[in-house]
Amino acid sequence: MGKIWRISGPVVIAEEMRGSQVYEVVDVGDDRLTGEIIGLEQDKAVIQVYEDTTGLRVGEPVVGTGEILMVELGPGIVGNIYDGVQRSLVTMMGDIGDFLLRGARTDALDREKKWHFTPSVKAGDEVNEGDIIGSVPETGLIEHRIMVPIGIQGKVLEISEGDFTVEDTIAMLEYDGQKKPLTMMQRWPARKPRIYKERFPPEDLLVTGTRVMDYLFPLALGGKAAIPGGFGTGKTVNLQQMARWSQTHLNIYVGCGERGNEMADVLYSFKKLRDPATDRLLQEKEIFIANTSNMPVVAREISIYTGITMAEYFRDMGYDVLLVADSTSRWAEAMREIGARLEETPGEEGFPTYLGSRLASFYERSGRVQCVGKPERMGSATVIGSVSPPGADFSEPVTQATLRIVDALYSLDVALANKRHFPTINWLQSYSLYSESVDKWWNKISPDYTDVRNRTLIILQNEAELEEIVRLVGPEALPEDDKLLLLVARMIREDFLMQSAYHPVDTYSSPERSHMMLSTIIKFYDLAKELSESGMLVSEISALKHVQRISRMKDVPHEEFEKYVKDLRADMEKMTIEQEGGM
Ligand code: ADP
Ligand code: MG
Repeated sequence: MGKIWRISGPVVIAEEMRGSQVYEVVDVGDDRLTGEIIGLEQDKAVIQVYEDTTGLRVGEPVVGTGEILMVELGPGIVGNIYDGVQRSLVTMMGDIGDFLLRGARTDALDREKKWHFTPSVKAGDEVNEGDIIGSVPETGLIEHRIMVPIGIQGKVLEISEGDFTVEDTIAMLEYDGQKKPLTMMQRWPARKPRIYKERFPPEDLLVTGTRVMDYLFPLALGGKAAIPGGFGTGKTVNLQQMARWSQTHLNIYVGCGERGNEMADVLYSFKKLRDPATDRLLQEKEIFIANTSNMPVVAREISIYTGITMAEYFRDMGYDVLLVADSTSRWAEAMREIGARLEETPGEEGFPTYLGSRLASFYERSGRVQCVGKPERMGSATVIGSVSPPGADFSEPVTQATLRIVDALYSLDVALANKRHFPTINWLQSYSLYSESVDKWWNKISPDYTDVRNRTLIILQNEAELEEIVRLVGPEALPEDDKLLLLVARMIREDFLMQSAYHPVDTYSSPERSHMMLSTIIKFYDLAKELSESGMLVSEISALKHVQRISRMKDVPHEEFEKYVKDLRADMEKMTIEQEGGM
């Protein structure tokens, strides 16, 4: 046991700390605030404290726990709301009243609640680390698969079906003459990646329901992506949309250093919204980690690691998990603050020199893997973080460091936000290195996918080039085929890329639906070219009722959509015949 020697904001230096370890968790002060040792020099320990340090005084005790920061894993995580150090805000709000109470302790997993466990192995079976030995229906949407913890193996002596708490023994193993009781709860060090058998390149689309992402810049299950954008460009709305509608087994939403009322909005909406595939409440497949701007800065980093550890744990059950983090810039700012307090030599713009490697230690934990243990299974963790560059200047260090790590980029554009074009994902600056890998996936939806996507990207690029000319000479000077291209590009932007998060139908677009929408626009282009070649003016083409009907596609309810598009296409086919007949 030592005592506080100096206090500098969230950083505390304690003396008489010989025998401690770096990353050991310590209780700081009379209020026993949670802290973590981040540096040791002789008998002094540098501690970052995960709670508000106001009121701490020199001389107060600092007590080592002998443990590093662990995440509790087991039934009861899904649907929960945690702070950065995995204190359940649900429990705290109920028990303690004020969920920001300093020094408050709560168990991450409810110790009283009983879960119905059904074994999938029997007495006499040999089991190894990672093996699934049974399951618990955790929510209506998640079956929690109970795995033998890493590092443990043996012969099952007893295992039985029944109702158990997370601390009850559900099975007894024997190994080397030793008995080892198993519970449904495991613990894992937050900063350490969980192990897997083998890593595979991503190949399936992460269906987000956002058209511009899924169709033009697809993210793959197990991929890593970033979404940088200036203030008000829609980072939060985009990530919320992904956490809501992504067709994954489980989503984890990490609110890192952003406003508390936004977090409250997210939480509220998940209590009401239903999963389109199963009609169950979305919170049954969601974990929330809230570390809002009014909460201690230091806990931002650990909230990110807590989140990714949970993602890996559910990945290990054989699930596809998505983690969204809003915003990684707030985490980077916390690193900068701690670095400054430690008087480290700063790197670019005051950020620590290890900024890039620290960010990588998060994003690199994404992936599609073969899990450890039997039965054989694949799982994936997909990671997407928002970046908030000050003044929307993407040349700043956090954006640049992130760009070197991720394989897909959704670049949000202030100019599009000003035009109310949402989502503001800029189609000329965004990219995805997964588009080739998920081509096969898309081609099962439609063999035309690759062609439609490529043509769309070319039309949008041509539009950007033509805009230069239009700025110089005005639109009237353009030849008819260029005018037609501009018309179709506008239709792609307004009738396909723009998508309202707030429209009950348009908020989620299935891949089939997205494909039908875009291929109809491209089909219209081909037919309109014929019309144009046979003499119809683009000004007349743009007045065709088909153009209006295309613009209404996005709001057509899902049940009526197929018929709507079929009729529209049939009528479109007729327009060239009518035109020929009329001449
Ligand atoms: P950021 O997190 O980048 O500061 P927000 O996500 O809070 O920005 O978005 C700012 C505003 O932009 C939202 O309040 C909303 O009005 C609008 N917006 C963003 N995305 C969409 C969308 N997909 N559909 C409709 N409106 C959107
Ligand atoms: Mg935001």
